Amino acid sequence: MPAQPPPPGPVSDDGPAWAAASDAPSAEEILALLGDVVVVVSPDLRVAAVNDAAAALLGEEPGEVVGRSALEVVHPGDLEEAADLLTRFHGGREMARPSIRLDRDGEPTLAVELVARRVERPGGTWIVFSGRVEPTLNTEDLMDSVGVGIVLFDEAGGVTESNLTAAELLGGDPGSLGLDLTQLADRLRLLDRPDVAESTGRAPSDSGPPHSDPAAALLGGSTVVRRRVDVEGPHGSRRVIDAEVRPVRMRYSGRSVALLTMRDVTAEHAAEVALLERATTDDLTGLASRSEFMAQVDSAISAGPVGVLFCDLDRFKSINERFGHGEADRLLQVFARELVAALPPTATVGRLGGDEFAAAVPVRHDHDLDDHAESVRQAARRAGLSSLHLTTTVSVGTSWTGPDPRPAEKQSAPTAATLVEEADEALRRAKRTGRDRAAHFDTDMRAWRAEQTAMAAAVREHLEAGRVEIAVQPVVDPRTGRVSGGEALARIRDADGELVPAALWIEAATRTGLIGAVDAQVLDRTAALIAALHRRHREQGRPDVALPVIGVNLSDSTLARADLDDWLLAVLGSHGAPLDHLVIEIPETVFPVIRDRSADALRRLKDQGAWVAIDDFGVGYASLAEVRDLPIDTLKIDRSFVVAEPGTTHEAILRASLEMARALDCRSVAEGVETERQLALLVDLGVDYVQGYLTGRPLDPEAFAAHAETHWSPVTTPRRAP
Ligand code: C2E
Ligand code: MG
Ligand code: MG
Repeated sequence: MPAQPPPPGPVSDDGPAWAAASDAPSAEEILALLGDVVVVVSPDLRVAAVNDAAAALLGEEPGEVVGRSALEVVHPGDLEEAADLLTRFHGGREMARPSIRLDRDGEPTLAVELVARRVERPGGTWIVFSGRVEPTLNTEDLMDSVGVGIVLFDEAGGVTESNLTAAELLGGDPGSLGLDLTQLADRLRLLDRPDVAESTGRAPSDSGPPHSDPAAALLGGSTVVRRRVDVEGPHGSRRVIDAEVRPVRMRYSGRSVALLTMRDVTAEHAAEVALLERATTDDLTGLASRSEFMAQVDSAISAGPVGVLFCDLDRFKSINERFGHGEADRLLQVFARELVAALPPTATVGRLGGDEFAAAVPVRHDHDLDDHAESVRQAARRAGLSSLHLTTTVSVGTSWTGPDPRPAEKQSAPTAATLVEEADEALRRAKRTGRDRAAHFDTDMRAWRAEQTAMAAAVREHLEAGRVEIAVQPVVDPRTGRVSGGEALARIRDADGELVPAALWIEAATRTGLIGAVDAQVLDRTAALIAALHRRHREQGRPDVALPVIGVNLSDSTLARADLDDWLLAVLGSHGAPLDHLVIEIPETVFPVIRDRSADALRRLKDQGAWVAIDDFGVGYASLAEVRDLPIDTLKIDRSFVVAEPGTTHEAILRASLEMARALDCRSVAEGVETERQLALLVDLGVDYVQGYLTGRPLDPEAFAAHAETHWSPVTTPRRAP
């Protein structure tokens, strides 16, 4: 026997060397005893000889294996590779050390690292395989030994396989999690809005999330969905998990299954969060981050009186949309530089998020803040001109640690947090009163804030008791005085039982997240009114007159509801109110929200008969293109443009708005008409309808219905956008 094993590859024509004493065990006996696998394959690709080790691998006796097709003993998973190797080897090419699994009743049993030798005979090429036997782990052991949670789902979304780690992460029994794909998707919030959804490159599918049937979306989709979620593990512990669902098409059957893998990243996540919190500078501008700014202001307060200027670039959202993120980011960077340059070197300047910046400056009097606020405004102008050749403006809110006029027991030591909160409050006032200005947080504002808090409490109480009411203001044809519609306005009552106009509390409701619930109660009352008008109209048998259409104001949080159309239809349906008498009023200022989230739902509603109006048109700077892209049929022109005097800027805007309505084939409604002169001018300019104290104050629903009945408008074909 040679001391060195021969090099792999074809052997020489002389054949292999073999020497044995005459009384030594025969070659067959030795082969049978060998622990290594030996398989000889004949030129017609049949098993010509096997030793015991090889037969044992297959779970058979050597005699049962001989004569079978060589490919029959290969595990189906390796068939293609085995066939390819054999043909190549027959063709005289090299065969590296392949690993081919042999098949034992459909299970791959052992991995065999094979060395193949070619033996040329007149009848063809014989191949002798020999190789090491390596036990493979069975799939179950393998799955249980990895620290990644693995769950396999069948085509119907049922769990076919899950490992120990999955059970640990989700708190179920290994083997049977007791959950299907739909339930797991829900638990891991996989379809909410994936952090990453990447195409697998297979047939494109428009059934990506969100999808009405989560299992189908994940199984049939062509995307890998990844999500970082915080879940409750066993014993109530919280864990952060990186979950990934990947649709897998099975190679042999072509069936679609899904593979869910989960990694416990609780520790990593905590470290990332801590790192982020420690980040002291803002990446984009290099200014102090929010946490750093707050820390610096807190220490500045202890050194003496400090003023805080909180600023927010006006209409930054539209700048972002018009110029793109890159340019908008550049504006932020230039503004940051200008801001630092415009303020004294003792100032602390930070970026608190998005387009919000804040500065803290030592001040002696609160009027020092006026000068600083003016410097900030100049900085914004310079930044806009030099970066985008655009006049950009900024709104500023200020607050300071100066003497607190409140009674001593109501005073508390100022902190960075309260100063920033107060400056933010002042900033909101600056925005509300027209932007491009500074507002100071003063005692009036403290009172205003207290009032807002009380308002929010009152709104909450009304909501809980289901007592939000509506007042309905007539929308009138100015030429005939007929009522063509109305607008439902939310009302709550004060302590004396008097109705409080929405303008006084809607903001408090919006800031406290209650506005969606207000919208819902208003819609419910409105649906009841529409149904009642409908019934009366039928009872009276007046086909010659048209039922008024009633508008509801929807806030951006309502418009962003994923179920907007279904919800609206359900509320109307519950009262038997027809959809074609509802007008959905959308404030022009929430256009960016609706374009992305609600345009489709609005279109579906409009297709089914609803009217869609832009409210307060003129104050939000919606472009013609934006309006054209949305299913709008009514423009409600904001009351600030409803004027009596021709020749003013506002009159020009009014004219342009009416032109735009005509160009878009929309109905126009002028809001807030209070005087005959205004009305006359509007009629002159060709407005379709008016709404204001002159033609009708908001009325309770019964009074409105009675009023509408005496002022039915004749049936005409209303103007509607296609
Ligand atoms: P809006 O949708 O523009 O409603 C018109 C507002 O103008 C109403 O105030 C109405 O009473 C008032 N108004 C009508 N005619 C005149 C007039 O001739 N002169 C003056 N000065 N005012 C007039 P209201 O009811 O206080 O509502 C204010 C705003 O609150 C509404 O403006 C709307 O944006 C919002 N709002 C009202 N109800 C709801 C609601 O249910 N949900 C939501 N999200 N917002 C609502
Ligand atoms: Mg409105
Ligand atoms: Mg309005």
